Amino acid sequence: MNRQALDDLKQRIPLMGYLQAHDWHPARPLSSGRWMGLCPLHDDHKPSFLVDSNKGLFYCYGCGRGGDVIRFAELYHQVQFLEAVVLLRQWHGIEPVLREATRFYRTQLHRHREAGDYLYLLEHMQIGYAPGGCLRGWLTQLGYPLQALCQTGLVTGAGYDAYVRRIVFPLEGNLYGRSLSGAAPAHRFLPGAKGGLYSWAQVRSYPEVILVEGLFDYTALWEAGFHNVTCSLGAHLNARQLRQLCDSPRTVYLAFDADANGSGQQAAQSLAGLLKERGVNARRVSLPDGHDPNSFFVQCGDRRQFQSLLEAAQ
Ligand SMILES: [Zn+2]
Repeated sequence: MNRQALDDLKQRIPLMGYLQAHDWHPARPLSSGRWMGLCPLHDDHKPSFLVDSNKGLFYCYGCGRGGDVIRFAELYHQVQFLEAVVLLRQWHGIEPVLREATRFYRTQLHRHREAGDYLYLLEHMQIGYAPGGCLRGWLTQLGYPLQALCQTGLVTGAGYDAYVRRIVFPLEGNLYGRSLSGAAPAHRFLPGAKGGLYSWAQVRSYPEVILVEGLFDYTALWEAGFHNVTCSLGAHLNARQLRQLCDSPRTVYLAFDADANGSGQQAAQSLAGLLKERGVNARRVSLPDGHDPNSFFVQCGDRRQFQSLLEAAQ
């Protein structure tokens, strides 16, 4: 490998670009084109890593190492000179193609129905995320007094965000938070009623409606193309939800969980009885043992198979 080839490589891979692609961030500027930051080569606590982006050189006042982009790759990946050159060439080759691929995929996003449906679903359900520890500050800044926030249940009595690491689904007059952490209870609502059937206004005009227990079941069915689905947020319906299901003649498919203890099936059976008394045609969908609609689609089922379960419903 001659001198010229190495110079070309260094030309094509500016040190600063390579550092930033490896998560290095300058902490403060010095003179023109010179930056200080934490050293990525040793356990650094105050910025001791100097980068001269014009010269393409670095030097660390902490660990005393310095050099060009090839030297950096050697130290960072702990390889010999020639291997570092190979790594840099590979990296240089793959970066533009990944950028192009990203651009390509972005243009495809709106051209394919299945992808568009998924994004539409997130938008349609207005799904959000509660990281925790920041809602109180935000709402206080908007002028909501702490006492009011505690009353809604958004903030706990101790002053913390009630929803932490939860996917948040807006309901009628409430917010449902599904935990992402195994340590916390999976389902949480704010105090007060859970409201009516989920997204009922969009569903009520269908002559056949599928009722599921959980919002993840709802999203699974929706994604599979069943848009005549609604959710009771639990196996037991409140009076308002029952009134909604019975507000005009229709067929309701009850796709409740097939739990091992039979609680989903029992709830479906007693609900079917209530619906019949009110003149609504109810049919119970039998999912494979241990499955709910969400796990059915995640693990094995497709649209056609679920359709045959609907047709076989008693
Ligand atoms: Zn260092």
